[in-house]
Amino acid sequence: MRKTINLVVSKTSRNMSIISFYKDFPDELICKLHFKKHRDEKGVICKKCACTNHHYWKQDSWQYECKSCSFRTTLRSGTVMHKSKLSYSYCYTAMHLLIATKKSFQLKKFSVN
Ligand SMILES: [Zn+2]
Repeated sequence: MRKTINLVVSKTSRNMSIISFYKDFPDELICKLHFKKHRDEKGVICKKCACTNHHYWKQDSWQYECKSCSFRTTLRSGTVMHKSKLSYSYCYTAMHLLIATKKSFQLKKFSVN
């Protein structure tokens, strides 16, 4: 089962200026931690054994490790950022600009191959 993360977009974030956006998300670490927080809230499903919400967090590699089978899942796996090589801050900025302009998009179109 594939699970995706939908970032919560409120009216406030639609109206957020680029200046206030950069105050809230000034660097890569803040964006990664914000993304992890939302991923934790949605829960992680192990691709190998389908175990839910029984994972260790491996801070050194930014991966979840299943408590049942030790399978590791990256922070991006199964999300809108799956297989993207773009930084979290780049993706957050792109999403902010697209949300602010109310345009639809696919993140993979921003990928550089
Ligand atoms: Zn597992």
